[in-house]
Amino acid sequence: MEHASAIKYRIARRLRAAIQKDLKVHYQPQVDMVSGRLIGVEALARWYDTELGHVPPGLFIPIAEEMGLISELGMAVMRIACADVARWRAIHSTSVQMSINVSVLQLRRLEFLDEVCALISQFEIEPSQLELEVTESALLDNVGEARSTFERLAQLGVRVAVDDFGTGYSNLSYLHALRIDRIKIDQSFIKELFTTTTGQSIVSAVIAMANAMTLDIVAEGVETWAQARWLVSHGCVIGQGYHFSHPLAPEEFERWMIANPAGLSLSVTECSSHS
Ligand code: C2E
Ligand code: CA
Ligand code: CA
Repeated sequence: MEHASAIKYRIARRLRAAIQKDLKVHYQPQVDMVSGRLIGVEALARWYDTELGHVPPGLFIPIAEEMGLISELGMAVMRIACADVARWRAIHSTSVQMSINVSVLQLRRLEFLDEVCALISQFEIEPSQLELEVTESALLDNVGEARSTFERLAQLGVRVAVDDFGTGYSNLSYLHALRIDRIKIDQSFIKELFTTTTGQSIVSAVIAMANAMTLDIVAEGVETWAQARWLVSHGCVIGQGYHFSHPLAPEEFERWMIANPAGLSLSVTECSSHS
């Protein structure tokens, strides 16, 4: 216990120093699985430390939340992502839809909305080009608190997505109360599509619910062509996962964009010969 706590403090100490200079952001494409078209990207924080090596976000994000560093880290990620959107617009004349992970602890800060507005105006970003992803489990514990912030985001035109959808065992009423635009089916359900007897019925039910509530939907963790094909044939057209691309460093993503202008090589129909 003592050892674990010492490691946590060491990570937090080094992270605090790294946020403004060593934090990187990688981008994972989200694609239309029928046409192969790029729909947007998810920004994912990356941190390489000279002493600790590569520290995965699954480790440093919870520490940042616990140690009061998440707002600074989250805004640093958002700034880098917005700067990249502006750069891609200038260099490649493309307007990339950007999804950014946001901790509920960030939403609680009074300055949060002002900071988002400042970035939108500094980088001349269309508000609807930005989507904030909040995990379902965190959201469910904070529906009351999140309501006014989400209301303001909706007024601004910034989109909101529920991340890891399906893991929170919720009564779903929060989806309308919080003006959610999109849900991301958690990758555990995609993994279980062909491995459990209930896998397909759960994902079908989630897709039907999203359609009935006119919510956009994206499947996370699509790793195989068979999963992509099943999702498309059941009404979920947008996918994200290793089958299409791993998260990429900005320059790798730019090369990916150039190599896949319409992304046709990725489409499910094109891949039908792989069945
Ligand atoms: P997430 O938001 O659910 O992000 C998706 C995670 O799944 C990413 O892990 C991504 O690399 C991974 N992934 C993508 N496609 C596949 C696939 O086909 N198969 C599998 N097995 N995994 C796939 P990553 O980058 O390690 O991030 C882990 C988590 O850390 C994220 O989960 C998110 O909750 C959090 N995170 C990352 N960056 C940020 C950030 O800037 N702010 C906040 N608050 N959280 C972040
Ligand atoms: Ca996410
Ligand atoms: Ca997720």
